[in-house]
Amino acid sequence: MSTTRDYYEVLGVDRTADDASIKKAFRRLARELHPDVNQEPDAEERFKEAAEAYEVLSDPDRRATYDRYGHEGLRSGGYSPNFEGFGSVADIFEAFFGGAGGGFGSVFGGGRAGGPVQGGDVAVSAEITLEDAAHGAAVEVAYDAVTRCEHCNGNGAEPGTPIETCPKCGGTGQLRAVSRTPFGQVVRAAACDACGGDGRVATNPCHECAGRGRRVERVKVSVDVPAGIDHGQRIRITGRGHAGEHGGPSGDLYVQIHVREDPRFIRQDSDLVTVVDVAAPLAALGTTVEVPTIDGSTELEIPAGIQPNETLVIRGQGMPMLRGRRHGDLRVVVNVVVPRHLKREQKELMERLAESLTEHNLDTGDGVLGKLKRAFHHA
Ligand SMILES: [Zn+2]
Ligand SMILES: [Zn+2]
Repeated sequence: MSTTRDYYEVLGVDRTADDASIKKAFRRLARELHPDVNQEPDAEERFKEAAEAYEVLSDPDRRATYDRYGHEGLRSGGYSPNFEGFGSVADIFEAFFGGAGGGFGSVFGGGRAGGPVQGGDVAVSAEITLEDAAHGAAVEVAYDAVTRCEHCNGNGAEPGTPIETCPKCGGTGQLRAVSRTPFGQVVRAAACDACGGDGRVATNPCHECAGRGRRVERVKVSVDVPAGIDHGQRIRITGRGHAGEHGGPSGDLYVQIHVREDPRFIRQDSDLVTVVDVAAPLAALGTTVEVPTIDGSTELEIPAGIQPNETLVIRGQGMPMLRGRRHGDLRVVVNVVVPRHLKREQKELMERLAESLTEHNLDTGDGVLGKLKRAFHHA
């Protein structure tokens, strides 16, 4: 089996394409046609076709022959694509790109070994009160983070002792495994385990960090929690995560905010909702009650004739908004309490009241729908 299509066309490159673009084109195709991702029936054939085109165009001699004499020239020159040693496309792919652990980048991606690597992010949570959320607060969080070893300044050597070129990798920080495949030699690179990719090893490793240059430390950070923050929101603090390697930047710290439940309020975005009990006779007569606010309490006038579950709004007494200087409202649900356990005298008063009531007294002016809305939509 071999293709008769033009190899340049197969890879989708110009006849003048340089090695790098040929390599790039093949990598792109190979990813696209990989059996794990591409379920189309002809993907395997197309992969082999691409591999054949790459095998020829990546080799200067074969490419020159192909350019001058075409497919025929290659055949008569003794070349024939040979994948017999490979059981399946997956095998070819693995031989080419490295094993599962190696990933796509292991051959051509340029090993990251030895290069700067950003440190990992750290996530912690912090619990605050509703008051803290209303006013903003400084909260201390503690967590374990990888930090640069102070004792050796991160280079892994006892201060004043020499650092030498790693004998295992010769200073490159990488170990290469070369294997032969139908595509020629395939090189797999991995970070050197002797020097951790640094290319240099301490002759006298730092006793504080055992030569790693990094250590795990309990870190405490004071976090400014802005006024108006809500439960579940995250604060990101750049550079306070794990330390980077080989000069890479540190990761970030994410602080997830848990706002403790407050028995006085339910929070709805920037509004606070609370409830006050008002005895039925006082609801009929009108009264003044004390309602809780985030910082204490305030007086609220209850108008005569207020109905159960009616909501009174105190503007600006809710939570601050994260952006801008506005505040939400405090919504007060009036819970009209019907007296129970009446004594004889109270009963008599109630009976006299009940007898005196007219339709005019009981007209709330809002029909069935209005009453239901009050009952269900106050919060
Ligand atoms: Zn150290
Ligand atoms: Zn090494």
